[in-house]
Amino acid sequence: MDCLFCKIVSGEVPSYKIYEDDAVYAFLDIYPTSEGHTIVLPKKHSMRFTEMSEAEVSSLFASVSKVARAVEEALDVPGSNIGLNNGEVAGQSVPHVHVHIIPRRVNDKGGS
Ligand code: C5P
Repeated sequence: MDCLFCKIVSGEVPSYKIYEDDAVYAFLDIYPTSEGHTIVLPKKHSMRFTEMSEAEVSSLFASVSKVARAVEEALDVPGSNIGLNNGEVAGQSVPHVHVHIIPRRVNDKGGS
């Protein structure tokens, strides 16, 4: 399948990996919104979040929680934005489900 994120998981396209297990792969975003901006994706290809089963969603977000805690601890930040874009119209540019973890710092300019 010609999917960029599947190629990142297989190593065909390089990435800065920060976590991997049987079900998920996490790497640093190449165009980070803030230092440590991390992408977490399920290894099993689904184009959209709303195509995933409850079990897949539950497993993905258990991993997102674990990775987000590790990122916040490693960077010593007090919080992060955690979210995803579901569908092209919502800003999803890569059609393989992925969750953004965007570390936030006090008084940064990242949002409201
Ligand atoms: O939610 P969205 O689909 O826009 O997010 C895709 C993200 O994947 C972007 O933040 C983009 O910078 C990142 N990306 C990446 N490495 C690539 C291609 C895209 O980190 N090779």
